[in-house]
Amino acid sequence: MNTSAPSRVVSFADASRIVREHANRLVPRHAPEVVGLLDTLGRVLAEPILADRDQPPFPRSTRDGFACRAADVAAGLPLEVIGSIRAGDAVAIEVSAGSAVEIMTGAPVPAGADCVVMVEHVQRDRDTLRLSPGRSVQPGENIVPMGAEARAGAVIVPKGMRISPAQIAVAAACGAGQLSVYGRPRVAIVATGDELVEVNQQPQSQQIRNSNSYSLAAQILAAGAEPVRLPIARDERGHLEGIIRSALETDLVLLSGGVSMGKYDLVEEVLLSLGAEFFFTGALIQPGKPVVFGRLGEHYFFGLPGNPVSTMVTFLLFVEPVLGALCGDVGRAPRFAQARLASEVQVKTGLTRFLPARLADRNVELVTWQGSGDLASTSRSNCFLVVPPDQPVLAAGETVTILL
Ligand code: AMP
Ligand code: MG
Repeated sequence: MNTSAPSRVVSFADASRIVREHANRLVPRHAPEVVGLLDTLGRVLAEPILADRDQPPFPRSTRDGFACRAADVAAGLPLEVIGSIRAGDAVAIEVSAGSAVEIMTGAPVPAGADCVVMVEHVQRDRDTLRLSPGRSVQPGENIVPMGAEARAGAVIVPKGMRISPAQIAVAAACGAGQLSVYGRPRVAIVATGDELVEVNQQPQSQQIRNSNSYSLAAQILAAGAEPVRLPIARDERGHLEGIIRSALETDLVLLSGGVSMGKYDLVEEVLLSLGAEFFFTGALIQPGKPVVFGRLGEHYFFGLPGNPVSTMVTFLLFVEPVLGALCGDVGRAPRFAQARLASEVQVKTGLTRFLPARLADRNVELVTWQGSGDLASTSRSNCFLVVPPDQPVLAAGETVTILL
């Protein structure tokens, strides 16, 4: 009997496309819930945030200055200052030809005025003022018209958007003390390996601590989902199978380790024996080449290579889009950016590489590392330099892509 899954090693582009295609078919499985505003941070909106009234609710002055008529100012007439309006004042006064009203930032612009001249741009003599030489003002200047940002009832933030401080601010501005967000998907974490001990156990010299369950749990939490850390699976078929079965109570299954070519890398074999289908069994990337993506019944799973940096990178590249879909996030995708390479980088061609790097200002530089097991170096990095598979040299000063 053939116990290994048919090998399907694909390019980075193909692996990303396959993941995207599956993610695009997924929807959140749990009912939305209504959550206090600050607890929505990192969650995904299940209902849009609507403007409860026009924003701004009155024509708002954006400067400290004088509300008046632009035509009067253009004519060079001295203006009579007939009153003063502070932010929070209800306006009873009206501006007529030849007059101006002192106004503060955030205050309602009185009827009759069509501009605000900045206080720095006028010469004032008691109750009259003139524009300073060389200054001008246009109709509409320094005023945000009522409703210009949003009309009452309009969608300000559509559903499916992940909530960051800006969305929380706009919800607060609209009087929403709580929001409806999609239920958090539960994600099983199965670390495999006979060498592993738990964090609170004292390892013998040949043993290592199970850090992957923690990096994955942290990444899952940061993605707005709920990690479910299962016991370490031994490199033994029956034990591994039992733990995989218990993982199927969750919405997504992540396994770490046991997906390489070694004699005790049993993850694919056990998944296959349970009836799994595999969409790919490797991607031409470094770190993370042995990464596996597939489905067992209704459950998607990823077999992530056990080397700690591989585990984190493959999560960012492949797990996050699927998890984002289960969270209801319409904007899910790995976040790439551009930066200037500080010093030359040479690599072998053939693999798309994601090398731990440090971005400071707009310059990015590799951190020296000992390969995909080197957590210590990676913990001093803040991004990954992306090296395309066909580029043996990236020159100093070149614009390069980074993975945030
Ligand atoms: P594997 O993918 O099982 O061949 O493991 C590759 C490397 O990653 C080995 O050096 C393992 O000891 C290490 N490793 C595997 N699982 C973990 C884990 N959960 N935490 C930390 N290191 C791990
Ligand atoms: Mg292993």
